[in-house]
Amino acid sequence: MNEPRKKDDKIRCDACPVMCYIAEGRTGACDRYANDKGDLLRVDPLKIIERNKEISLVPFAAQQQDWDGSIVNREDIFVTAIGAGTTYPDYKPAPFIIGSAVDGVDIVTVVTEGIYSYCGVKVKIDTDRHIGPEKSIVRSGGEPVGHVTTGEYGSQMLSLGGVNHLTGGSKKEGRTTCSTMLSLCNQEAVELSIDGGSNITVQAGEPPIVDGITEERMRVGCGSATIGMFAAQWKGLVDEVVIVDDHITGVVSEHQAGKVIGWPETGIRIKGRKSTPGRYFQVAEPGNGWGGTNIEDPLDILEEFNPKIAKTGQSLLMISTTGDQFAFYKLNNELHPVQHEIPKKLLNPIARITENCEPALCSVLFVGGAGGSLRAGVTENPVLLTRSVKNYLTNVTCGGAPTYIWPGGGITLMVDVTTMPKNSFGYVPTPALVAPIEFTMRRSDYEALGGHTDHVVPVDNAIKGILGPQNDHILIDTTIELYKDQNPWPSHSNNFKWAENRSKDE
Ligand code: SF4
Repeated sequence: MNEPRKKDDKIRCDACPVMCYIAEGRTGACDRYANDKGDLLRVDPLKIIERNKEISLVPFAAQQQDWDGSIVNREDIFVTAIGAGTTYPDYKPAPFIIGSAVDGVDIVTVVTEGIYSYCGVKVKIDTDRHIGPEKSIVRSGGEPVGHVTTGEYGSQMLSLGGVNHLTGGSKKEGRTTCSTMLSLCNQEAVELSIDGGSNITVQAGEPPIVDGITEERMRVGCGSATIGMFAAQWKGLVDEVVIVDDHITGVVSEHQAGKVIGWPETGIRIKGRKSTPGRYFQVAEPGNGWGGTNIEDPLDILEEFNPKIAKTGQSLLMISTTGDQFAFYKLNNELHPVQHEIPKKLLNPIARITENCEPALCSVLFVGGAGGSLRAGVTENPVLLTRSVKNYLTNVTCGGAPTYIWPGGGITLMVDVTTMPKNSFGYVPTPALVAPIEFTMRRSDYEALGGHTDHVVPVDNAIKGILGPQNDHILIDTTIELYKDQNPWPSHSNNFKWAENRSKDE
């Protein structure tokens, strides 16, 4: 092991550019490293995930003396980068380069905690409500930390963090941006306010709270899609159905779906801009009323009925895209809609819309780049790692969770934080987020990309917390976490292109 640099009774941590000198018994500025009797200690335990409940690993503090190598099937454990530390600034190999055999194939996993000054968070908020205009500034504690971006498929989207908020504004803005992203990535609740819009509580995997109201359901679709799904179930029960929606309000008698099933005309006229038959844009302003509009009375979007077609007694159901709001009317002698109690026969069709709305959630995706110096901890020729990732020869995971790698240059990754172990993220005060990253590949592919093969250690070393000589820190402990079933196993052959050829040969 390399000795950390010493000054008086302090030791230097060089795991990030802050380079703290840490006194005995104290932690550095990020609380991730401490001076433990002259040793530089990574204070969060190394996290190992396992997929077989039968395996029982004892903490390595106990193992270091007594461990007899009796750990069972190493194919069922995966050493993550959480708590492994880093060998920043990557002029030396990553903390762990682990060799193991999986399904008869020699596999290498390179493990490090990356420091991301260039990173961001994308937040998807399942709500019909208008949370604020696109491009509006999103604030945390009054500081700008991102903006509202284009809504996607009926959900509202925020783009938070990024290098401009982390480094391009005031010190306070950078720190607030970092701590907001840290909390969101660690699956904690964060309160955000949008200029000209709502206050929202966001927590990964939990329903959004918009202006104090907990959102329960995601819309079933836009007004037009709702008609496509349910028009046939409404026919014969009511003369007209209008789905009120801020994006596309649907009118069943005019809509293509209504036409093909022979739905009669009703003479209804809708305000707003007609896009195609039965599909209307801009029937009202966005807001927190019916279907994400600002209206409280749905009749506000109707013009007078066409007297040549409409008839006294004609029935009309108006409903929002979540089924939360609905009202039933009949036309009086003047062809004005008058509200009536909902007929029993319409209760099930209304409930069917609600039943098809999925629970409203907040989704938090961490976006980071692993195309920089971090690659040097894996290989002497970093571009070969990028190519290996792009060619599906190297699988990139974060805390064992699968990542999406963007096309184009570099290794720009996205990961759903709820697929990672809780509290996987840390920070350093530069400011930057710290996130675990693991690169897994065949040993032959690791050799081909110029990997640090002389630093490969057996997986048992990681289990026992024995770091390689390239490190100047030690580990405090290991913890075991059960594998999340929805994730692909990080070293499974299905993650790699070469498995296709192997299947063909078999
Ligand atoms: S902030 Fe943390 S990682 Fe950076 S030098 Fe200080 S103790 Fe080490």
